[in-house]
Amino acid sequence: MQLSNSPKSPIAAFFKQQGFVLLDGGLATELEKRGHNLNNNLWSASLLINHPQEIRKVHLSYLDAGADCITTATYQASIPGFAEQGISEKKAKSLLKKALEIASEAREQYLDTSKNKNPSRIRPLIAVSIGPFGAYLADGSEFRGDYSVSTQELRSFHESRWEILADSSADIFAFETIPSFREAVVLLDLLQSTPEVYAWISFSCTDGMRISDGTHLAECAELFVNCEQIVAVGVNCTAPQYISSLINQVRQGAPAKPIVIYPNSGEVYDENRKSWVGSSDLINLGTAAIEWFNLGARLLGGCCRTTPSQIGDMRKALLSLQNRKTP
Ligand SMILES: [Zn+2]
Repeated sequence: MQLSNSPKSPIAAFFKQQGFVLLDGGLATELEKRGHNLNNNLWSASLLINHPQEIRKVHLSYLDAGADCITTATYQASIPGFAEQGISEKKAKSLLKKALEIASEAREQYLDTSKNKNPSRIRPLIAVSIGPFGAYLADGSEFRGDYSVSTQELRSFHESRWEILADSSADIFAFETIPSFREAVVLLDLLQSTPEVYAWISFSCTDGMRISDGTHLAECAELFVNCEQIVAVGVNCTAPQYISSLINQVRQGAPAKPIVIYPNSGEVYDENRKSWVGSSDLINLGTAAIEWFNLGARLLGGCCRTTPSQIGDMRKALLSLQNRKTP
C-alpha cells in the first residue's frame, strides 16, 4: 500500500523505522483511577488548574507502556469553557499552554531515564488534542453532532483556541472525536490557514459506516484527500466492534491516507449519570491491533476507558508483525 506521507511529516520517521505509530490510551480513566473526580464541564482539563502533575504522571505511564505519541489534556479545554468556570481569558490561554508544557515535561522525564536512552527509539511525539464544539457544550453532543449554531460560530469557537495552540511547539494536532461533517470542514479550513502545522482527524462513529451526525465516514475522509497537512484520517471513541468496517470506509474515501484508529472500550457514556455504562467488549486490543493494522490502520491506540497495559499489549502485538514497514 502506497501511503501519502510527506517526509517532513512528524510521523514519517516512525513509518520508516517501525511501520506504525502507537498512540496513548484514556487520560481521564487513569486520572479517575488516581482518585480524581472529573464530573465537571472541563473534565480532564480541570486538573490543569489544581493538579497538573497528576496529568504528567499519566502521560509518563503511557510512554513507559510504549506509546510513541502522547496527547495533551486539552480535549475539553477552550477559552469559552474556562470563562464559564470564571477563568479569565489570560489564565485560560496560560492553561492551554500549560497542558503542552506538562506533556513535554513527561517526555523529558521519560527520555532522561537510563533505560530509555536507546538511540534507536524515536523521540516520542506530543499531539495537542482539539476536541469538538460538543465537548465544550458537555451535553453529549460530541456523540451526536447536532449543533444548533452557525458555521461561523463553530469557526469562531475553534479559532480562539487554534490561534494560541497552532503557534506552540506541539509536534502534531489531534482533531478528535469529531461528530459533524460541517465541523470537519471548519477544521480543515482552519488548518490550512496555518500551513506549517500537521494534524490527524478522527471522527466519532455510531456504527460501521457513519459518523455521529449520520454522514458516511467515506465522504468525510474524502474531504482530506488533497490536504498534505492531514497525516491520517480515522476514528476514535467508538466501540471496537465497528473499527474494522470503519477502516474500510476510510480507505474508500481516502485510499492513500494513513488511517488512525483509537477506539474506546465499548462502554457508553451516560450524560445524565455522568458515568460509563454497559460492559466493555473484553476485547484484546493486542489481537485487535493486528487485525486493524492488516486492514490498513497505521496510527493505533485507545480512547476512553483504555489503559497503559492495553497500550503495552498493542505495542507487543504490532512489533511481532512481520512486513509491517510501509513501502
Ligand atoms: Zn474517548
